[in-house]
Amino acid sequence: GAKGAGRNRHHCFTLAMEAEIQTRRALEQDLRAAFAADGLEIYYQPVLLAASGRLAGFEALLRWRHPERGFISPTEFVPMAEETGLIDPIGEWILRTACAEAASWPAPLRVAVNLSPVQFRNRGLVDTVRRVLAETGLAPDRLELEITETVLLAENAANLAALHQLRALGTRIAMDDFGTGYSSLGYLRSFPFDRIKIDRSFVSEMETHPEAAAIVRAIVDLGASLGILTTAEGIETDGQFQRLRAAGCDEVQGFLFGRPMPVGRARWLIGEAAVETVPVRRAV
Ligand code: C2E
Ligand code: MG
Ligand code: MG
Ligand code: MG
Repeated sequence: GAKGAGRNRHHCFTLAMEAEIQTRRALEQDLRAAFAADGLEIYYQPVLLAASGRLAGFEALLRWRHPERGFISPTEFVPMAEETGLIDPIGEWILRTACAEAASWPAPLRVAVNLSPVQFRNRGLVDTVRRVLAETGLAPDRLELEITETVLLAENAANLAALHQLRALGTRIAMDDFGTGYSSLGYLRSFPFDRIKIDRSFVSEMETHPEAAAIVRAIVDLGASLGILTTAEGIETDGQFQRLRAAGCDEVQGFLFGRPMPVGRARWLIGEAAVETVPVRRAV
């Protein structure tokens, strides 16, 4: 009867959920094991000055190559690391590895490291950054910390204080994925960001949606009048790049210039860049 079918459906639903939870647990275990066995990697994506095409630095991006499933996207496993608390040790490892690497690059090349809002719950975050800078010898202004709006959600006073302390260390603070949240403009008023990273969703529609192009121009102008640098993310076409350059955007990042790459390839690119301006269309 209808009742039986309902019960059966409920049963199937529960089984499916249990299977999903099992898969998730297994993946969490795999992540923990991978981290413990040095199985996580950092890729570096070049960031270029829009006007000259010169290399400005790299963004450090976490990579996990699962033995059976291949590369798993950080958008999938970072939330998992956040839920399990693994993000604290992993985040510290990324910070230390990326800073040590950047310390070997010629100044003023900088490295950008993404910080999860969950890392801000850890009251030791500021001390960790201070210690890593001291240990690696990286000049603080060559480290840029990328945060998303979630960090400042609900006017979190403790997070705001931590941001000011990080800034006081001399690091640069960037707002990532700008424009995608609920109150992007409001957050610009609560903290003096050094940089705004214009979200890829606007950039990718610049050529097809005039309103996206207008929003990007407005963000660049806003940055200019507030003294905040702007970097556009996710540039894939020359048309997007030309529009961003015309808008006066300071820096650019995207597959057009280079995909996130293993550290060896990044070093090679830096070697090339030291002798000559990196052509903006160099295939990497
Ligand atoms: P994000 O910080 O906004 O990083 C930019 C993302 O855009 C990267 O994805 C990058 O590979 C991708 N991207 C860059 N240029 C292009 C382009 O031209 N086209 C397209 N389609 N994509 C482009 P990825 O590496 O998969 O990272 C996704 C997100 O995962 C990051 O977004 C960040 O929020 C998070 N994430 C990555 N690494 C870390 C990390 O070390 N720590 C933390 N907390 N989060 C991380
Ligand atoms: Mg980022
Ligand atoms: Mg982003
Ligand atoms: Mg993003």
